[in-house]
Amino acid sequence: MTDTPSMTASSAPLLEVKGLTKYFPIKGGIFGREVDRLHAVDGVSFNIAAGETLGMVGESGCGKSTTGRCILRLIEPSSGEVHFQGQNVSTMGSDALREVRRDMQIIFQDPYASLNPRMTVEAIIGEALTIHKLTPSPESYRARIVDLLETVGLNADHMKRFPHEFSGGQRQRIGIARALAVSPKLIVCDEPVSALDVSIQAQVINLLEDLQAKMGLTYLFIAHDLSVVEHISNRVAVMYLGRVVEIAPSRQLYTQPKHPYTEALLSAVPIPDPKAKKKRIVLTGDVPNPVNRPSGCHFHPRCPKAMDRCRTEEPVLKLVGDQHQAACHLND
Ligand code: SF4
Repeated sequence: MTDTPSMTASSAPLLEVKGLTKYFPIKGGIFGREVDRLHAVDGVSFNIAAGETLGMVGESGCGKSTTGRCILRLIEPSSGEVHFQGQNVSTMGSDALREVRRDMQIIFQDPYASLNPRMTVEAIIGEALTIHKLTPSPESYRARIVDLLETVGLNADHMKRFPHEFSGGQRQRIGIARALAVSPKLIVCDEPVSALDVSIQAQVINLLEDLQAKMGLTYLFIAHDLSVVEHISNRVAVMYLGRVVEIAPSRQLYTQPKHPYTEALLSAVPIPDPKAKKKRIVLTGDVPNPVNRPSGCHFHPRCPKAMDRCRTEEPVLKLVGDQHQAACHLND
């Protein structure tokens, strides 16, 4: 776990997300009218400082990937605001958005699906260089691609090959090189290691950490379990049914969680000392349907600590410690 990069009172965060909401209409009836809404992201707010990594975790379907895509406007948010370097991304026209996307890139979960199988590695990485006219000559184009490949642990011999000739870990390295081509400031890492073998996961995470140290990158690092984000994150946000239920500096979240859902996720994280014992909290039931969310605290049907008021009163995300926020009545 790394400490949070210092942010002086005058320095604005690199990314500010305010009340971000994304719902998908459910249509029905003979006129195809909206009959309900699937609340994928429901009023999510957070900041990320330059050079910081914010880990974002939660079970599948909790809205974390949709949040990442809404930040880049790969999916249009229903409401809320995203400010990047002080500019409101949410209201930008297409030209300004194209410019800002040079600074905000994404690495996708599935390195098998995210690379075009008909394109060579050179074409995959070079596409953005050409679109943004970043290399004035064929020589500088080639030199930049070789440089990017070497930066991610590949080499010039790989340029003319196709994605299927690479292992999963290598493909993810190609995806990282593609993201780095435009020298971004922020990278949304959308479950970048979930599809990889455990032995390869650490290599990719180490590479991302090295790149951050060298290039001063800022990450939103999305994962479905807390063990993956533990070492790379300065702070961690835990999401449940479209909402952030806890956000805190990593050390605090891992040692003093203030939300029963975080406690349950933490109880599933393996501990390196085989003699140390930890009681696993097994959550009963599946994540509820985001169309029909439970009343009160959305977590109450699965919460081992639920009280009467949890069924009717919705807890709000509030400060429970230094830079530590949680949404649970137990903290009242
Ligand atoms: Fe559990 Fe109640 Fe806290 Fe929700 S508000 S997490 S149901 S104790």
